[in-house]
Amino acid sequence: MESFALPRDPLTGRPSLRQAEGSGSGRLIGNPRARELCPFCDSQIEQQVDRIAAAAGLDHWMAASVRNKWPVLTEDQGRHEVLLPCLRHAERLWDLTDGEVARFLAFWHRRLEACAAGERDLFPLMIMNQGEMAGCSQPHLHSQLIGLPAEPDSWGPRRKRVRARDCVICRGDGTTSPIITRQGEFTVWAPYHCRTGLIRIAPESHTSALSAEQLRELGPLVRRVARASTTVMGTLDCSLMLFAWFRLDRAAAHWHLELVPRKTAIATVELSTGFSISSIDASAYAAAVSRALTRG
Ligand SMILES: [Zn+2]
Ligand SMILES: [Zn+2]
Repeated sequence: MESFALPRDPLTGRPSLRQAEGSGSGRLIGNPRARELCPFCDSQIEQQVDRIAAAAGLDHWMAASVRNKWPVLTEDQGRHEVLLPCLRHAERLWDLTDGEVARFLAFWHRRLEACAAGERDLFPLMIMNQGEMAGCSQPHLHSQLIGLPAEPDSWGPRRKRVRARDCVICRGDGTTSPIITRQGEFTVWAPYHCRTGLIRIAPESHTSALSAEQLRELGPLVRRVARASTTVMGTLDCSLMLFAWFRLDRAAAHWHLELVPRKTAIATVELSTGFSISSIDASAYAAAVSRALTRG
């Protein structure tokens, strides 16, 4: 797929996004007055942001999607939304209730579908960062939906490996790698040979049609696994990434989530080679996270 709007590094060929001027000036993470100044809290947000969509609440909106004030790409390149799970000041996934996480993930689905179905041919990326090591500038828990103008280079090979006929997940990455837990139709495992602490979560059967119902069921599981794995790794920070193909090969690719506790920045060896570095044994790590989950 051609990156029609993205400039590329002439040496590496990697595409780059252009962030808006002033990015970083609203940084609140680490600021002792973050809670008081938070632009995402109830009293502030109605005036400060351009709300795109809201999930239905009882007498109030419960989750919202708003335009990112400092998007990572220009308007002509794509779109960048911030998704808020709640309007009270929550900073960690486990500060939300099971119901809030479930409702929020279902809301992810609505926004992903809306992005993929839009007039422009955008490729939706859904991520959630928690804490400074994950690159957050705002401590209030939020996700980001980025509508990219082209499929990222790294997604093509990944997508091919989770296609129906010869799917790596079905073939055993979720069974031969150390399993942390199985719950309902989902398997949670710590794959071998990946970045320190990485965990994958996927439906056991080859499912490409990611549904709102699945995400709702997945919410409480993600919340528990995030807490257990960050506890084991000795950090509060983590990144959550959804790999689902709403535009390409949707009928074939096995969707999955990746969760990475973030304790260190990306090492220069990783940056310069693209190789992963793991400082822990996946089997021992999976066993420790499994025990932490049992303890609750
Ligand atoms: Zn807040
Ligand atoms: Zn599969």
